[in-house]
This record gives sequence, C-alpha cells and structure tokens, in this order.
Amino acid sequence: MKKVTLLIPVYNEENTLPELYKRLQELTNCYNNYEWEILFINDGSNDSTLESIRKLRKADKNVNYVNLSRNFGKEIAMLAGFDYTTGDCCVIMDADLQDPPELIGKMLQYWEEGYDDIYAKRLNRGKESWLRRQFSLIFYHILQKISNIDILPNVGDFRLLDRRCVLTMRHLREQERYTKGLFCWIGYRKKGIEFNRGDRITGHSSWNFFKLLNLAIEGITSSTTSPLRIATICGIIFSTISFLYAFYFIIKTLIYGDQTAGFPTLIVAILFLGGIQLFSLGIIGEYIGRIFKETKGRPTYIASDYNETKLGYD
Ligand code: UDP
Ligand code: MG
Repeated sequence: MKKVTLLIPVYNEENTLPELYKRLQELTNCYNNYEWEILFINDGSNDSTLESIRKLRKADKNVNYVNLSRNFGKEIAMLAGFDYTTGDCCVIMDADLQDPPELIGKMLQYWEEGYDDIYAKRLNRGKESWLRRQFSLIFYHILQKISNIDILPNVGDFRLLDRRCVLTMRHLREQERYTKGLFCWIGYRKKGIEFNRGDRITGHSSWNFFKLLNLAIEGITSSTTSPLRIATICGIIFSTISFLYAFYFIIKTLIYGDQTAGFPTLIVAILFLGGIQLFSLGIIGEYIGRIFKETKGRPTYIASDYNETKLGYD
C-alpha cells in the first residue's frame, strides 16, 4: 500500500488543531486504500499546541511530529518536514484549513497518473487586506520579470510532492529560504489544479506587512542575482550621462566663458546619485549578508524531539 504523508507546519494553532484533525480523519477514512501519516512540525509554538499534538499521537500512531527547538518560520519548518517524511508522496498544507483537505483526493489522482508536483492554484485569496493583495501582485510581477525561473502567481505551498521531489528538496538547505521558488527550481512534472481559498477558521494570520516585505526581498535575492546587474547598468548609464554632461560643459565654457550657475541642478544630481549609490550598496549588502549566513555552515534548523525521541547534535 502506498503511503501518503500530510506535512503540516504549526505555530500557535491550539485552537485550530481539533477541527483540523477531524477533517483529516474524514479524508483518511475516505481514502483508505492508502496508508496515511500526519506529520506535524511544531515550529516553536508558545501555546499548548505541542501538548495537543502529543495527545493526538497517543491516540493515533499515524500521527508523527517533529518539535523544533524554537520558532524558525514556516519555510524552514517545511524543510524539517521534508527530512522526516516517510511517505511515498507528501502533501504540504496549512493548519488553518485555508487549504481544503478535500482537494487532496484530486491531487492523488494526478499523482497516480504520474505527475510529480501537483500544486493548487488559488482563484481567490480569502479575506485579506487590499494593501496586502496589491503588494503581492506587484511582487510577483517584479519577481517574474527579473528572475529566470517561472514563479507561479497565486500558488502557495499547498501541493503534493512525489518522494523524488522530497528527496531533492532535502538537498536544498539554504538558510534563507523561499520555498516557492525552490519548487519551481527543482523542476519535475508539474500539474496545477485550481481552488477557492477559504478564510482562516480561527485566530489570525501570523504575517504582517514587514514579514511579507522580508519574504519578498528573500524571494528576489534567493532566486536571482539580477538586482546586482541592475545596479551595474544604473552605474553605466549614470557615468555615461555625467561624462556627456562634463563634455558639454567644457565646450560651453570654452565658447561662452565661465558662468557660476546651476546650483540647484548640482544638488539634485548629487542627491540623486547618492541615493542610487546607497541603493546599490544595499543590494550588494543583501547578497553579502546571505554569503555570511551560509559560510557559518550552521544547521538550517534544530529539532528537539521526533515523537518520543529526544534529538540533539553530538
Ligand atoms: N507557521 C509556522 N511558523 C511560523 C508561522 C506560521 O509554521 O512562524 C504555520 C502556521 O501554523 C500555518 C501556516 O504556517 O499552518 C500558515 O500560516 P498563516 O496561516 O499564518 O499564513 P497565511 O495563511 O496568512 O499565509
Ligand atoms: Mg493561513
């Protein structure tokens, strides 16, 4: 019998867990021609999420969990999930039931047809602020334009991955992760299915504007180095312009004599170029920062328990 792992990162989800587990039970009972594993990644929750998971595990041996030593963020929690999945395929889903479990049946169908990566494409985005929606649309647009790989808009992390994708993902261990870009990068046979995204059943999204801005910068700097190229091109353009301007100025002085004027122009030019320089430095800094983080060679995450086993590094 083939085994399907449901990989669920959880962070402070004590209120959603009972409902989630109920819905998953319905699903697993419905597809009893598969063996199921429910793998929770507890991402350093500071409420009773871990206790709830332990209780579930006591009653149901198909529930496994990895407990991370602190909050590492969802992207890294997913990597931990890839390391501990035991199934022939793995479905990544959110704990808040924004990703309807009912869609998994359809994903399994495509998996049986031989697809490796079946992703769910949102037709709507659930309840969220206007600003956030605009922000994410602009972000995808920019990312698409400047990176060489296709990043699909409106596709989240809700997807089914064949074991071979999971094994590949285990090798991508960068600290600063933008998993959506990684899924596109690894390739394999992909298939999209569409669905309507619901709203969170309880609580509220743990994302805020700055977290999303960070994720956006991460998305760009982890999948492409074109911003560096943009900085270079800006540099070339502006030095050409200043060279032409200097040339023009010399000629003008030779013909009409020296006139001390154009102070505002000077200030504007200095400020503008100063701005461009700081911006370029910032871009370079982003990449150097990543190099710094990676050269330390630390493990991407620290797991403190896998089921009843205590983990540590020896
Ligand atoms: N999550 C996590 N670590 C975090 C934040 C979130 O593991 O630091 C989990 C969370 O429990 C949920 C999923 O990631 O299962 C998506 O989180 P959320 O609903 O807050 O994000 P959104 O749906 O707004 O993208
Ligand atoms: Mg959510």
